[in-house]
Amino acid sequence: MKAEATISRNAELFARACTLMPGGVSSPVRAFRKVGGEPFFVSSGAGALLTDVAGNTHIDYVMSWGALMLGHAHPVIVHAISDAATRGTSYGAPCEAEVELAALISALMPSVEMVRFVNSGTEATMSALRLARAATGRDSVLKFSGNYHGHADSFLVQAGSGVATLGLPDSPGVPPALAQLTLTAPYNDLAAVAALFAAHGERIACVIVEPVCGNAGFIPPVEGFLSGLREITARHGALLIFDEVMTGFRVAAGGAQARFAVKPDLTTLGKVIGGGLPVGAYGGRRDLMERIAPAGPVYQAGTLSGNPLAMAAGLAQLRTLRELDPYDALEARATRLIDGIVSESRARGIPAVGGAMGALAGWFFHAGPVLRFEDARQASDAPFGSFFHACLRRGVFFPPSPYEALFVSTAHDDATVDRTLEIVMEALAEVAG
Ligand code: PMP
Repeated sequence: MKAEATISRNAELFARACTLMPGGVSSPVRAFRKVGGEPFFVSSGAGALLTDVAGNTHIDYVMSWGALMLGHAHPVIVHAISDAATRGTSYGAPCEAEVELAALISALMPSVEMVRFVNSGTEATMSALRLARAATGRDSVLKFSGNYHGHADSFLVQAGSGVATLGLPDSPGVPPALAQLTLTAPYNDLAAVAALFAAHGERIACVIVEPVCGNAGFIPPVEGFLSGLREITARHGALLIFDEVMTGFRVAAGGAQARFAVKPDLTTLGKVIGGGLPVGAYGGRRDLMERIAPAGPVYQAGTLSGNPLAMAAGLAQLRTLRELDPYDALEARATRLIDGIVSESRARGIPAVGGAMGALAGWFFHAGPVLRFEDARQASDAPFGSFFHACLRRGVFFPPSPYEALFVSTAHDDATVDRTLEIVMEALAEVAG
């Protein structure tokens, strides 16, 4: 009965959505194109669980693509949002919570001396790039293949995440003249970066990098990669931007920059700092941030930026994280999960490799090592899709693409990981035949 209800209600909603919204979704990777089948429509979330419109529950390892560190509908966050809403949903004028959130971010991430709030990670990275261009008087940006920095034109060149999932190396609508200003190097390849600087150094405004890559699957930086980027950029008068939209307050209390002790000039943030509401931010050196309007001439603005509900949710989440300091415990749980998937896969003859940092994790069906996107792309998609569906049928929702990391929260306790591993074993037995 339940399964039939799932099919009919979900299929009906998805068919209707497809007539009204491109691909039936508001963001591409949600459409399950990489794994096949139809996405499920969510009716509610609580803790580590999502409930679909037919009443089936799924252990969720997507966690709003990393925004949720405390699970779904955490009481502290729900209370903060409801309380703020009683005082108005948007002012178009400054509010105290912006100052509190800016101060907390700056305290946790000291390279962020000043911060500008925006509404998404995409806005954060495109604004940081404008600032880097303005500050250096140079036009080019160097990024890494498989790193995803949102959907602004300059970054849709060899991007990861949904772009990789759809197999688009680029996107129609991005002017070639603009794309030419984006240089790309393989991730973890300092020699390639040095060669690009040797050839084009005087044109490069900034290097932007996911300090731990989560958009080509989970790929940590090799030893010396981030410090090497710091050294090369400083030597050539280019800025270093850490895109910590995914890693910020997820891989460590102070983000990847604390974990690897490398100080970028600018940092972009999103996801966790909004507690599940739409927020992004960029920040960094005071002398750079003071170039932003109205303190300086670099224009950037937003009707809903610094929204009081979003600030309240972000503050509640970051304050709770500061109190709990859950990163070691989360990393231990995420590592246990990944180790289980990897060892059981190998035992069944499916090559696998993976790891975790704080509450960010992932694995590839690949013998390894996976150091860059080009390696990740060699992992076979075939076992991933059938494994994904075998898990989903049994109540575990992993990100629906091999090019996405997975996300845990404080709601993913040991029992949740145990249950997930039981399901993983069954799913792998099914996949391996
Ligand atoms: N940068 C990184 C590293 C991201 O992971 C993402 C989103 N996955 C973005 C930027 C874009 O953020 P948003 O989807 O909020 O625009």
